[in-house]
Amino acid sequence: MTPTKTVKTIKIDVDKCNGCRACEVICSSFHATPRFSSVNPARARIRVIRDPLEDVYLPVYAGEYTAAECAGRDQYIIDGRRYEECSFCRASCPSRDIFTEPDSDLPLKCDMCESDPTLEEPWCVQWCLADALVYEERQEEVPAAALLEDLDVDLEAIANKHGWPKVVEAVRRLAEKT
Ligand code: SF4
Ligand code: SF4
Repeated sequence: MTPTKTVKTIKIDVDKCNGCRACEVICSSFHATPRFSSVNPARARIRVIRDPLEDVYLPVYAGEYTAAECAGRDQYIIDGRRYEECSFCRASCPSRDIFTEPDSDLPLKCDMCESDPTLEEPWCVQWCLADALVYEERQEEVPAAALLEDLDVDLEAIANKHGWPKVVEAVRRLAEKT
């Protein structure tokens, strides 16, 4: 059977977002220590780019950290609305003050509310009463190359600990069972 992985997505409908920032509130509260002990949108992993005069309300999820800002910038005009430079970028980047933990300066990244037990939907989606955020999951086949890469890394780690002869022997025994 081909191995699969779960791909989680949140679809963002900017036309439905009204800029209420409830998503920021619940995200920062869920990630507080202990959970739900405080609210500070500066700690949220989703931020809403707001420009009421331009009717711009754009929820953006925190993505990867980058040490250096981009040399070039983009400006978007969509349906007559002008979006500021960097609006669509998800990076935690030194050029701006979002997606950085205010006390420690550590970068923030959306983790899809990973928790035990697993949530049916991330908190920001549950709290968005305007239905601007819609959660979806799908299964995707894992490419053989990626599997081999993972296997390579795992086997190397095990071999470093127990030696290659034991790894080879274990793989041989597994192959006999399948
Ligand atoms: S909770 Fe929904 S409507 Fe409110 S700011 Fe966030 S995405 Fe927009
Ligand atoms: S999915 Fe969870 S971690 Fe990510 S922005 Fe929403 S509430 Fe925050």
